[in-house]
Amino acid sequence: MSARPTNRRSRRRKQPAVAIALVQQRLSGIYGPVVWRPRMAALDELIFTVLTQHTSDLNAERAYDSLRKKLPTWGEVIEADTVTVANAIRHGGLANQKSERIQKILVEILKRLGHFELEFLADLPLEETRQWFTSLPGVGPKTAAVVMAFSLKMPAFPVDTHIHRVSIRLGLIDQKTTADQAHPIMESLIPEDDRYNMHVLLITHGRQICKARIPHCDTCPLTTECPASTTRRS
Ligand code: SF4
Repeated sequence: MSARPTNRRSRRRKQPAVAIALVQQRLSGIYGPVVWRPRMAALDELIFTVLTQHTSDLNAERAYDSLRKKLPTWGEVIEADTVTVANAIRHGGLANQKSERIQKILVEILKRLGHFELEFLADLPLEETRQWFTSLPGVGPKTAAVVMAFSLKMPAFPVDTHIHRVSIRLGLIDQKTTADQAHPIMESLIPEDDRYNMHVLLITHGRQICKARIPHCDTCPLTTECPASTTRRS
């Protein structure tokens, strides 16, 4: 039998994506166990998450604390001048855009419900709740998924910049897939019960080892399987 013709390119085939179960097992070994802890009420979480857009969590926390101190109720935030709201959240950056967005969200919620209690959304089907949030002004898939996962304990999978980067490197999503586009893909790959756990593991991995500029592949438990590993052995 004659040997099939080969060339260098065909021998260097792209390594397949790392299996989700393996990622979870290895990352749990260094960062686990992960325990869900309730954070804020759903509306508080929603406004806080809007404040985290395009800034660090620390700046968002300072902006959120300042807002709650100056305008303690959501009704007062609606009633206030947009400039007053912007001044209150100045620490979080993009204050003019975010103040307007926050007021529009609050007005829309009040219009829909007549109150600010969003906890009932936890009892609706996942996609219905996602649609409810993403139809609010300026609320995208990530913000919706954060509130659903962290406040409502629903099996949504938020994709932030760390998770987006790590998922591309592990071959779980394509290089061209945006973070917003990655939400349904990642949810299709990860079983519902594992989504919160995987979110925390991947974000921690992105912050501690698989860093943006220089990933520490030499200390990564997935270095042998990862298609993007800089230390992978042949
Ligand atoms: S091997 Fe390197 S690139 Fe791959 S996940 Fe680990 S740190 Fe990131």
